[in-house]
Amino acid sequence: MAAQSLGFRVVVLDPGGESPAGTVADRHLQADYLDHAALAELASCVAGATTEFENVPAAALDYLAHSARVTPHAESVAIAQDRIREKTFLSDHGFGVAPFAVLRTDDDAANAPAHLVPGIVKSARFGYDGKGQVRVTQREDIPAAFAAMQRQPCVLEAFVDLACELSVIVARTDDGRTATWPVAENRHRDGILDLSIVPARVGAAMANQARRIATDVATKLDYRGVLCVELFVTRRGELLVNEMAPRPHNSGHYTIDACVTSQFEQQARVLAGLPLGDTRQHQAAVMLNLLGDIWFADASSHQREPDWLQVLTHPTAKLHLYGKKQARRGRKMGHVTCVADTIEEALATARAIKRDLGIPDDLPANPP
Ligand code: AMP
Repeated sequence: MAAQSLGFRVVVLDPGGESPAGTVADRHLQADYLDHAALAELASCVAGATTEFENVPAAALDYLAHSARVTPHAESVAIAQDRIREKTFLSDHGFGVAPFAVLRTDDDAANAPAHLVPGIVKSARFGYDGKGQVRVTQREDIPAAFAAMQRQPCVLEAFVDLACELSVIVARTDDGRTATWPVAENRHRDGILDLSIVPARVGAAMANQARRIATDVATKLDYRGVLCVELFVTRRGELLVNEMAPRPHNSGHYTIDACVTSQFEQQARVLAGLPLGDTRQHQAAVMLNLLGDIWFADASSHQREPDWLQVLTHPTAKLHLYGKKQARRGRKMGHVTCVADTIEEALATARAIKRDLGIPDDLPANPP
């Protein structure tokens, strides 16, 4: 939609029959990301291609790059898609990360360093929203956790005592110009993003440091396009990079309603070689995720549409539904961004909407 509003026509390659992006695009190619005929068709009709989903194979982008401009490049996507490559890249370039070890074999699992426990075994590929993760509380648990991951390559990461989680969306152009948006403070439930509060309720020094880290990560990657850098703030006040997402990110959805330029528009701008738009935030914002859980009134499988009218009685609540036909528990179906003059006001609206929709509200009373 952002690219269309800049005057471009858009083709979406998505294997889903009811693809949310496909329904608004000028054309939807329904095929697997690695379907040769579909990729050839896409390559024949587009001048530029980008990705908007974590697990689009880097090989598909590589293929398209023979005939079209592709941002981000396949190499950046390949690094971000693989936790081993990602964490190695980050620590090799001097970015703080949670202490970790790579598990590739049963031997690695049996001999993992004791200081990484308690920790989390995370599969190297296809993990997001807390999927593909097993917590380990003692060293003896590691082999079983590795086996539970089908012995696929994993990282074992020490459990970090978190004060809060932040993220920064950064855009970078071919000639190395960068722009970051204000820092988001992210609250999760069950490993899935629940709320983003922006600007994050941290001091200016920490916010600036977070933006600098995101810019440096994008620069070190020679990144082109929109990148999300997720950060842990430890109780000791350190900033560690948790992971990066090579695309517009859920924690940047607030930019649609609260910033001069949204992350999506910026992505289209970089792809098209246009100047970066202004990333200033014009109102405080709280973004609330709408998961499929609220389509279920009770523990049964019966579904019904949530009461959107209740949401829209708040005039500053901006509702975004993605048009996914099937609700599933834990599936991201949409979001609401509450804008206001202050964070407190925006939070009060978001919490009222949570109550109305039956979304648990476990937000601590105090900021981090
Ligand atoms: P991830 O998919 O790696 O971002 O993990 C999902 C969520 O699990 C994070 O947003 C954190 O809330 C939590 N988490 C992941 N890794 C750690 C860690 N090493 N220490 C503490 N919490 C973590």
